[in-house]
Amino acid sequence: MNLSQLGEFGLIEKISKLIGKPSGKVKLGIGDDCAVLELPCSTTQFRINDQSKNYQLITTDALVEGVHFHKNESYFHLGQKAMLANVSDISAMGGWPTFAVVSIGLSEHQNIRDVKQLYKGMLMAAKQHGIQIVGGDTVAAPQMIISITLLGEVEKECLVTRSGAKIGDVICVTGCFGGPAAKKFRTTTIQCRINEARSIATKGIASSMIDSSDGLVRSVREICKASKVDALVKAEAVPRAKVATLDQALYGGEEYELVFTCRRTKVPKFAKVVGEIVAKGKGNLADFRAGFDHFK
Ligand code: ADP
Ligand code: MG
Repeated sequence: MNLSQLGEFGLIEKISKLIGKPSGKVKLGIGDDCAVLELPCSTTQFRINDQSKNYQLITTDALVEGVHFHKNESYFHLGQKAMLANVSDISAMGGWPTFAVVSIGLSEHQNIRDVKQLYKGMLMAAKQHGIQIVGGDTVAAPQMIISITLLGEVEKECLVTRSGAKIGDVICVTGCFGGPAAKKFRTTTIQCRINEARSIATKGIASSMIDSSDGLVRSVREICKASKVDALVKAEAVPRAKVATLDQALYGGEEYELVFTCRRTKVPKFAKVVGEIVAKGKGNLADFRAGFDHFK
């Protein structure tokens, strides 16, 4: 079998089986926006002033020229996006980012000015979120690759995973969808919903949460898979970016909004309800197509 048959998510499942069940200090391994580790922490946020009550979070995300961006795009924006895509995964667990390492793959023809712009963008996003870049790796590659690994922390009681959605919960989203898909490859500055995510986490609003980097429908599917439930998605209720078609809003991805579930009485002002969690087999997820896959 080749990858075009198996697909990105089929492959991750196979890799996950090879790696096996996490143990020891690993509270959560493969399958969420970040891995969650019981390791000593070093920072605190406003809620609890005791870092021994935190989990370490770790996530990684790569951008590849020709796949996620074109040559001649704004390298400053690209740098920002590479960092914020990782911040988004930390936010989706309810946490805040701390330290990053950055690996870059470059061809020998690479203009140094572009690399500087890339780092200026990354550093601006890092500064904005209190992240220190503490290392990385530099290698030759046929086209540009940027891979960032980001650490973060979250108070243990504030951790939000993909797996807590309950029947009767509503499905909520921040922002609007389909903008990046409508503009194709254009690297616009992404909105990072860390403030909303921290509010959701510290107030204990959400039963589950994920970011929408692989598209809205995919995010709802992931929550349902992890929570062993189904969903009734109201496509017409999905907030759409001005230029986006319904299809782009449902499957587009590359936008870093929050998708979360909560009790109907707890929906925050900044969120819109786009559906409901129902028992397995009672939803309409099967009516939606699979969405973006890197290999299919
Ligand atoms: P996200 O879009 O939130 O970054 P992904 O869809 O990329 O998440 O990945 C889903 C899950 O699979 C995550 O928990 C991620 O850590 C894990 N994963 C993805 N690729 C690999 C890989 N090559 N090896 C091990 N785990 C992986
Ligand atoms: Mg994610």
